Amino acid sequence: MSRLVIISNRLPVTIQKEEGDLIYHPSAGGLATGLNSLDGSWEKIWIGWPGQEIKEAWEREAVRRDLSKDGLFPVFLSQEEITLYYEGFSNKAIWPHFHYFTQYTSYRDRYWEAYKSVNRTFADEVIPLIRKDDLVWVHDYQLMLLPAMIREAFPNLSIGFFLHIPFPSYEVFRILPWREEILEGMLGANQIGFHTFGYMRHFLSAVYRICGYEHHFGKLTVGNRLVNADVFPMGIDYDKYAHPEIEPQEGNGSLKIRKLAQQQKLVISIDRLDYSKGIPQRLKAFARFLDNYPQYQGKVTLVMIVVPSRANVTQYKELKGEIDNLVGKINGKYASFDWAPIHYFYRSLDFSELTTLYQESDIALITPLRDGMNLVAKEYVASKEKSKRGVLILSEMAGASNELMEALIVNPQDRQDITKALLQALEMSEEEQRQRLERMQERIRKNDVRHWAATFIKEQKKLMESQKEKIAQRLSDEAKKKLAEDYRSARSRLLILDYDGTLMPFHKDPQAVVPDKQLLAILTRLRSHEGTKLVVSSGRDRGTLQKWLGPLQLDMAAEHGVWVKRNGEWSNNTGLSVSWKESIRQVLENMVERTPGSFIEEKDFSIAWHYRAIDKDLGEKRVREFRDVLLYLTANDDLQVLEGNKVVEIKNAGVNKGKAALNWVGEQEWEFIMAIGDDHTDEDTFKALPEDAHTIKVGLDKSAARYNMLSVEEVRSFLETL
Ligand code: UDP
Repeated sequence: MSRLVIISNRLPVTIQKEEGDLIYHPSAGGLATGLNSLDGSWEKIWIGWPGQEIKEAWEREAVRRDLSKDGLFPVFLSQEEITLYYEGFSNKAIWPHFHYFTQYTSYRDRYWEAYKSVNRTFADEVIPLIRKDDLVWVHDYQLMLLPAMIREAFPNLSIGFFLHIPFPSYEVFRILPWREEILEGMLGANQIGFHTFGYMRHFLSAVYRICGYEHHFGKLTVGNRLVNADVFPMGIDYDKYAHPEIEPQEGNGSLKIRKLAQQQKLVISIDRLDYSKGIPQRLKAFARFLDNYPQYQGKVTLVMIVVPSRANVTQYKELKGEIDNLVGKINGKYASFDWAPIHYFYRSLDFSELTTLYQESDIALITPLRDGMNLVAKEYVASKEKSKRGVLILSEMAGASNELMEALIVNPQDRQDITKALLQALEMSEEEQRQRLERMQERIRKNDVRHWAATFIKEQKKLMESQKEKIAQRLSDEAKKKLAEDYRSARSRLLILDYDGTLMPFHKDPQAVVPDKQLLAILTRLRSHEGTKLVVSSGRDRGTLQKWLGPLQLDMAAEHGVWVKRNGEWSNNTGLSVSWKESIRQVLENMVERTPGSFIEEKDFSIAWHYRAIDKDLGEKRVREFRDVLLYLTANDDLQVLEGNKVVEIKNAGVNKGKAALNWVGEQEWEFIMAIGDDHTDEDTFKALPEDAHTIKVGLDKSAARYNMLSVEEVRSFLETL
């Protein structure tokens, strides 16, 4: 049976000590529900902090024993660790920063040190429990370093990571002094999930700019692994809210809520106390509404639930004060003898009160300034399953707004916008309410929390399989040995090697990749083998190749095959024209003027614009802008526009590395042919060679080659064995 190892800061259980006894209360949050619903083919274990400081060794043993019966494994933390790692780094640095409250970000090194050390403590607990076929799933911002720590111990393990809060834009993220360690920590996972495409985009942009890894449609290669960043919007336990099992009882608030709803239009507002939730802004907007539309005074009541949270943190205390103040002011100003505009509760509700409030209210006013997802919005919509009456007003800054498009979407800072939305909601016909709700309900019913967990895991399994396939194509040590033997036993051999990215690592400065001693030694040795024809096939110009490699007396193809050097003589494809270059050069010069840092490389029969030293996105934008002009200019001259790795090259059509390779292939009968390349211009070589040729792509991207190698180092050490 496959095993799922879940790791989160908190275990889904709360421990209480009562008169020396330990009492365990399961806390079935959304995550636990989603994971519990996974089909029975998964055995699950869960690792996390049990929410209590347990000091004594014997007591820790008792907790360990009790929890293990339910597949739960505690990570014990001291009060100091909780203060520094959880309340400190997690909630005073990452939380505000990732929610764009950079003015609240604490940069204390002690917090960071504790964060690293507690992530390490988690790793130390987890590693002995892991088996190599497990699927490990790490959760949230408290454990961003953990994936890489587990990866160190298990290079091939399947590790997923999900971030439950927003990932901020690169411009904000980059401010963190520990930005690189955090990204490298997350990149230890194979799959990294976010609630929205926006967060994923920000993450990928930060990874590219800070760590230098480029992605293709969310997939990147980190060392010898594929990493997939993707979007998995978390859902709720739909049926729990659509068909709640509640019994209204005397003394419980539910009956009173119902009574109030009969007398008033109810607007509800439910959040934890947090500056990201936009509560003061919401209150001010509500006051503005009462001012603008006095006909609703006495008829509309805002029921505002603020659930206490992080109450010992200064900013939260201040926020609480501000809210208390505003509620007092607004009630003081607008109340009448039989009506108070705001019913304010600073406490949490039980499930029956909460769902009654959802069901009975006319409007939910949910306007966070930033929110990873916001489950309350989804719960509200689900609770309207029966009545089909109610309007959701939702901030565009909540992740949920991407799925709940039929809500009235507002900018939480725009009081006028919220005021208008309140009016629109109050005046909305029942038919329109029903239509909007039904569309949202259909979507969140299908994409519930079970679907979320199942999809994440399914995608991760798929990813691991595709990684396995790639690894299968990757030449094993054994296969390399065999290939080297075949090479040696053949009497005639043709080797075609690309230069940049294959023999030399890619560099921002193209002049910085002069062949080093090791490479020259490798090429000299291969060249000296009796029966071997060694060809370096490159997009570089003839002069550079001749200068760098000429003394070795190899055969070469330059400018993607425009020039060919065989038996010491350079010759070119006859009949190639260069009359087109002038007009193209003007276009490219214009691109350079507008894009400092880019440059033109002019070769005999082609001309290229390089943007390797500048931002890739800017380079691609320029290419897109100029593509039409280039295509127009090249249409009549039998030219082609070739887009390579951070370069666009314009050259005569019909010339490519594949055609050049045929010069040597046709020279004689070869017993052994091998080509190695990394760029997509090398695909022409792979395709042109006979079927039994050994073709090797450097990198994990899709290729016509039969095998993969991962790096220039791997290519070089293989060539050294020939
Ligand atoms: N909630 C609750 N009791 C309350 C108010 C809210 O249990 O009195 C729950 C609510 O049902 C929701 C969660 O708290 O599932 C809040 O999640 P959300 O994503 O909206 O915000 P977060 O607090 O995670 O930022």
